[in-house]
Amino acid sequence: MMRIFKSPRKIHQTLQTLQKNNKTIGFVPTMGALHDGHRSLIRKARQDHDIVVVSLYLNPSQFSAKEDLSVYPRPLTSDKTLLQMEKVDYLFLPDTKTMYPENFSTSVEVSSLSQVLCGKCRPNHFKGVATIVLKLLHIVDPDVLYLGAKDMQQAIILRKMVADLNSFVKIKLCSTIRDKNGLALSSRNVYLSSDEKQKAPVLFQSLKYVKSLIQNGERQTVRLKQKGRAMIHKSGGKVEYLEIVDATNLRSMRQVRGRVLIALAVRFHQARLIDNIMVVVK
Ligand code: AMP
Repeated sequence: MMRIFKSPRKIHQTLQTLQKNNKTIGFVPTMGALHDGHRSLIRKARQDHDIVVVSLYLNPSQFSAKEDLSVYPRPLTSDKTLLQMEKVDYLFLPDTKTMYPENFSTSVEVSSLSQVLCGKCRPNHFKGVATIVLKLLHIVDPDVLYLGAKDMQQAIILRKMVADLNSFVKIKLCSTIRDKNGLALSSRNVYLSSDEKQKAPVLFQSLKYVKSLIQNGERQTVRLKQKGRAMIHKSGGKVEYLEIVDATNLRSMRQVRGRVLIALAVRFHQARLIDNIMVVVK
């Protein structure tokens, strides 16, 4: 039976007792509207640990006023069913009064990594993400935190936060789960019209195209980015960014070399979708 907690203190005390009895804890933070991407993280945690904890919290501090917080899907009943089917032990389901009481005044910022890629278009987004994840880590105190590669910048930022702030949690990065057509699963895919659903696989197609150009010898990022962007424009998607950066520090590069992250954000009307792939260039 899955137990549901709303109180940070109560779930913390319960989990601490389990840890004292040598149980290991795997933790998967989510914003709900669960899909097979979330499910893959939960399954990995289930394989690796005695206890699986999932949090479901639509964190307002990572959305700006003009973003989609008010329309973000909230199918709580079916989310709970999915979590029960996946044999999750504990669901942490706090409310905003508890997580951000009126006098809340602390935040965590992972400076340079948060100012590029998604951080350029969403200035306070990663401050909101880092702050809520650190709070959740204090509450749950897991052995391992499971994150998806779909949100690679987020994972890189959280790795840095954990290292800089001396948290001893391990981070496991799980591969991106995609539809058959290549579209990365996302809670935001419900915003796509049926016509846009046909077009949205262009995100992954363009990433693979840029990767293939690199593998065929192209090294100039200016040319690579132009070609990737042109492919997306043709499909009707609006490119917010398509960048080719060093995968360790997210710095842009003129010539691709080493571990390279190709990352993009594309808008189809209401839907802002992101995706990325890695390439290793010798
Ligand atoms: P979210 O609910 O969107 O905040 O996502 C919660 C976690 O699930 C994050 O670590 C995401 O990176 C991960 N995730 C979301 N979509 C996918 C996907 N398609 N494949 C793998 N992981 C994902």
